Amino acid sequence: MTVVRSVAAEAAEFGKTFRGTLMRPGDAGYEEARKVHNGLVNKRPALIAQCSDTADVADAIRLAQRLGLEVAVRGGGHNVAGRATIDGGVMIDLSLMKAIKVDLERRRVHAQGGVTWAELNRETQRHGLAVTGGIVSSTGIAGLTLGGGLGWLMGKYGLALDNLASLELVNALGGLIRTSKTEEPDLFWAARGGGGNFGIATTLEYQLHSVGPTITGGLIAYPFDRSRDVLSLYRERTSSLPDEQILFATLAHAPDGSGVKLAAMVTCHCGSLAAGELAMRPLKQFDTPAMDGIGPMAYCELNSMLDTAYPKGAFNYWKSTFLRELSDDALRTMIDCFARCPTPMGQLVIEHIHGAAARVGVEETAFPHRQEGYNFLILTQWLDVAMTDRCIAWTRDTYAQMEPFAASGKYVNYLGDDEGMDPVPAAYGSNYRRLRELKSKYDPKNCFRMNQNIRPSA
Ligand SMILES: Cc1cc2nc3c(=O)[nH]c(=O)nc-3n(C[C@H](O)[C@H](O)[C@H](O)COP(=O)(O)OP(=O)(O)OC[C@H]3O[C@@H](n4cnc5c(N)ncnc54)[C@H](O)[C@@H]3O)c2cc1C
Repeated sequence: MTVVRSVAAEAAEFGKTFRGTLMRPGDAGYEEARKVHNGLVNKRPALIAQCSDTADVADAIRLAQRLGLEVAVRGGGHNVAGRATIDGGVMIDLSLMKAIKVDLERRRVHAQGGVTWAELNRETQRHGLAVTGGIVSSTGIAGLTLGGGLGWLMGKYGLALDNLASLELVNALGGLIRTSKTEEPDLFWAARGGGGNFGIATTLEYQLHSVGPTITGGLIAYPFDRSRDVLSLYRERTSSLPDEQILFATLAHAPDGSGVKLAAMVTCHCGSLAAGELAMRPLKQFDTPAMDGIGPMAYCELNSMLDTAYPKGAFNYWKSTFLRELSDDALRTMIDCFARCPTPMGQLVIEHIHGAAARVGVEETAFPHRQEGYNFLILTQWLDVAMTDRCIAWTRDTYAQMEPFAASGKYVNYLGDDEGMDPVPAAYGSNYRRLRELKSKYDPKNCFRMNQNIRPSA
């Protein structure tokens, strides 16, 4: 009771200078603001500070310190483990911070920490420019980039974080630090992969590249009983892709909600339209597809093509791992597991990583997974709460069946909330020790711990 009263008193004082919106339980807007993408996450912060600028972010951190409350930071709110929010703490919400400034001369863009990929791509594509970003356009640029950033352009231009030119971070004391390869370079190294452990990114500056606006891409789907051949074709094609092309495979359901299972590939070729057309031929000519949506399209259209399949508020439970190899046994196991998928929104995804993303050295950034290969993701979604136990059980069982084919690494941005043993060492591999040392230097009290936490070394 005493704590609640002091929160109320501090909040009232704080509200006099704070330019954003400060909400407590019961306030108008609180119930909506506390929600994140994953409907399974149901946390109730003591305060939600919806910031309007960097000064607000700094003030919100100081307020949390004064109140002795823990902090969570919200960018796009897509993190499936729900690390953007917190029970009883302060949610520092950047979702209103939407400024985007394109510098055409230097081919750079400055974007605030609440921007989504839809918003960033819209601005940069007006000039025929883009940077590697998320495949679903409602995802936040901040969380995705700070943890890695797999996307359509990574074969040609590397991960999202490989394109960061600088960051403005608010630290645990409310101070502002600018970091780049030449300013606080250790911090810049750690923040590129460290996933929010090293401060609140209020502005992210990216290098831009010429992309489209028309690229070649889309989705092609075959009947589920052709899965083995589709996945074998996928394996063959991904053994020799040009940097311009990214190709993912998925066992998924028809988008009409009928529950019909399909074997599909989704792809983007960001080179010339002629080269794109040539690259897509083997995918199209392999058999008669159930659905063929591959062709020239606007890059922004490709970026939002899958959005409706991932509605905000759906229940999500994910598990993922990098694979050692895509053997026949692994493919067979995937197909058998998917045949038992209990939800028409469930899918198994194979993401192929190659090209520029795989040419960066393991120690060049904190993100260590730089070998060409495959990431395997069980992406389980459902809408009926009564399905929760079945969906979680299926995800766990599928993961257990696929474990014999797993490599040791995991992608930090896909980690769930119940990974058993601490999954963070596997997410950082040989970079973990240096990350812990830098955490001790830049956040010794572990203020930023509502994330996949890198604990300060003793
Ligand atoms: C539908 C869907 C599609 C996805 N597609 C892709 C994809 O194509 N490629 C890919 O690589 N990943 C993808 N992801 C995973 C995605 O990278 C992570 O969920 C990521 O955490 C989302 O970032 P966010 O800002 O939206 O999330 P949030 O939940 O807001 O934040 C995620 C984490 O980052 C921290 N964080 C957020 N903003 C900041 C900030 N400004 N400063 C410091 N820390 C911050 C948070 O505290 C939290 O720990 C997808 C996720 C979903 C749900």
